[in-house]
Amino acid sequence: MRKIFIATNFICIICKGLSSVVFSCGIADKNTGRIVKSFVPDDKNPASLSSRRIDVFYQDSRGNIWLGDRGDNEFGLYRMNEGEDGFTHYLPVSGDTSSISSNEISFIAEDGKQRLWIGTDGGLNLYDYDQNIFTVFRSTILSSTNFFTTDKNGEPWFGTYSSGGLVSVNVEKGIITAFDESKGLLQNDLVFGQNGRIVKDEFGRFWLPTQRGLSVFDPETKSFVSYYEKDGFQPYDRRYVTIATSNGAIWIGGSHGLNHILPARLLEKDTTLPSIVITQVTINDSLYSKPDGAIFKQSVAYTNAIKLKYWQKDLSFDFVALHYLRSEDNQYSWKLENYDKNWSAPSKERKASYTNLPSGKYVFRVKASNADGVWNEEGISFTIRILPPWWQTWWAYWIYLIILIVIGWRIHKFQKARTIRIERDKTRDRELIQAKEIEKAYTELKATQSQLIQSEKMASLGELTAGIAHEIQNPLNFVNNFSEVNQELLEEMKEEIEKRNLDEVKLLVKDVIDNEQKINHHGKRADAIVKGMLQHSRSSNGVKEPTDINALADEYLRLSYHGLRAKDKSFNAVFKLQADEDLPKVDVVPQDIGRVLLNLINNAFYAVSEKTKAGIKGYNPEVIVLTTRLRDTIEIRVKDNGSGIPDSVKEKIFQPFFTTKPTGQGTGLGLSLSYDIVKAHGGELKVESTVGEGSEFIIELPA
Ligand code: ADP
Repeated sequence: MRKIFIATNFICIICKGLSSVVFSCGIADKNTGRIVKSFVPDDKNPASLSSRRIDVFYQDSRGNIWLGDRGDNEFGLYRMNEGEDGFTHYLPVSGDTSSISSNEISFIAEDGKQRLWIGTDGGLNLYDYDQNIFTVFRSTILSSTNFFTTDKNGEPWFGTYSSGGLVSVNVEKGIITAFDESKGLLQNDLVFGQNGRIVKDEFGRFWLPTQRGLSVFDPETKSFVSYYEKDGFQPYDRRYVTIATSNGAIWIGGSHGLNHILPARLLEKDTTLPSIVITQVTINDSLYSKPDGAIFKQSVAYTNAIKLKYWQKDLSFDFVALHYLRSEDNQYSWKLENYDKNWSAPSKERKASYTNLPSGKYVFRVKASNADGVWNEEGISFTIRILPPWWQTWWAYWIYLIILIVIGWRIHKFQKARTIRIERDKTRDRELIQAKEIEKAYTELKATQSQLIQSEKMASLGELTAGIAHEIQNPLNFVNNFSEVNQELLEEMKEEIEKRNLDEVKLLVKDVIDNEQKINHHGKRADAIVKGMLQHSRSSNGVKEPTDINALADEYLRLSYHGLRAKDKSFNAVFKLQADEDLPKVDVVPQDIGRVLLNLINNAFYAVSEKTKAGIKGYNPEVIVLTTRLRDTIEIRVKDNGSGIPDSVKEKIFQPFFTTKPTGQGTGLGLSLSYDIVKAHGGELKVESTVGEGSEFIIELPA
């Protein structure tokens, strides 16, 4: 009953609102149309209205009737009491945060969840029925909310005429979100509409006319679409009246006209794809649109490939999309393949420029959309080939390569030669150093060798001394004996002379003379021995002279034997010289060959003496020196019946310092020196030996 009742009043209030004169509020009978009850200000009744002016009227889903006024007076918000006998008055109370935030009411409305919202010029109020208080949303973007609507989920949306634009409030999460110019709304300051309502179409979209054009917001996608005068929207106005009719149409009225919009039709997109044409190409400041015969054989629009020289590297392309519905809104995106990484951002720009393109192949592609954003993705392509300069062509690279190889090869050769030269120099230096070292070593060796030879000589001299002493002793004995005998003979002779026994004197004189001769003979012999010894100790002067080898052999045989005997009295051996009487004198250095003979004979005596010491029964030590004249040579054999030389030793006996004798007894140089001496005389020194039977050393000298 009441609802119908109020509905009648509602229409009545709107009519009054339109005429902008509201004098009072009353209840009318729906059937008769008569005013049943009026409410007028009454100073004596605190439950009466404070003013006759009522701008905002609302009945909530619980049946409560709410009244408000937009004016800046003390009217505030009223709720009709249940008995319809008066009103409860709500005014802001300073210091009370649960009181309404302002007395200027711009709208009263309920959202889809039956929550009552009161918009004021000083914040947004949510009414709490249980406690009869208000929750105030005080945010700069909600400071002056004047329009309201709900989305499909029943969530509230507010229009503001401050910075917020369109605002959503999530009460549960306490999130306030502004959809303002930064999100695509044409104007933040929303002063349009009627009766505090934002008009919603059948798709749930909000229609928001502004001074800059018409914004349509889809709360589901949270996006705006804009329409302008060019789209058929009426010339811009400050205020509009917008309604949605039950057949789905939207009507927007303003001082410049009326728009009748069928949202379902308006939002259909034009799906015709725009075709694209390149209208002009600029190459290094020269414009081409018609055929020029060189680069363009046909007009630019009909050309899809060109070839350019390396210096034609500054290019720009003018293009257009052929779609004539709001063609100024056609959009373009382009890309120069092989140069641009990405497509350019869609824009209304119809020219693309490139400078300083390196030589290579490029494909310029353009795609375009119509004003509804339907893209011709395939677009068009235009191939540009910028030829390289001659020095960057493949044959130029081949020539560079060949030159490089040649240079590399030359460098390699040069380096190799240099390395070889350096190495050779190094080797030569090394060899020189080595040669010097060798020379030094050789000189030192020579010195050592001559020292060794000298010491070997002194050693053999030592061995000789005993023999020589023995040899000299013999003639000296004769000399002494004969001179003593001569002394006696001369005493006898003196007596016989006094006796004048001349015959006896003559006999005695003869004996003295004979003895004198013997003294002389033995004196000479001693002299010869001393000379020989001196000769032996003297360094060889290297002068060959005809030498009696038999005498030499005889001398050294005896010297050697007596030398050994002088050292070891128990030693006895048979020794003999089997001399070839026809042996001619041979041209040799006597000291050297003498040394060879002495070495061989000493070794032979040593061998037999060692075997003697072994105490073999029936063994008779024997050393024989044999000289023989052959056809062109003479041969001296030194033969002993010692222990012989095993083959393993035989290989080494001519090597310097090889000896089997105990330390101090042998130097190991004798045979090596002998070999060298014989070789120096153009002869041969050989050995023949049988173990247990003896050895035979053979010297062959050219006769
Ligand atoms: P050394 O007599 O100082 O050892 P040699 O060069 O004269 O040096 O002799 C080398 C070695 O040859 C001797 O140590 C010995 O072993 C061997 N040799 C030389 N002559 C004879 C020989 N007549 N009988 C056995 N061995 C010999």
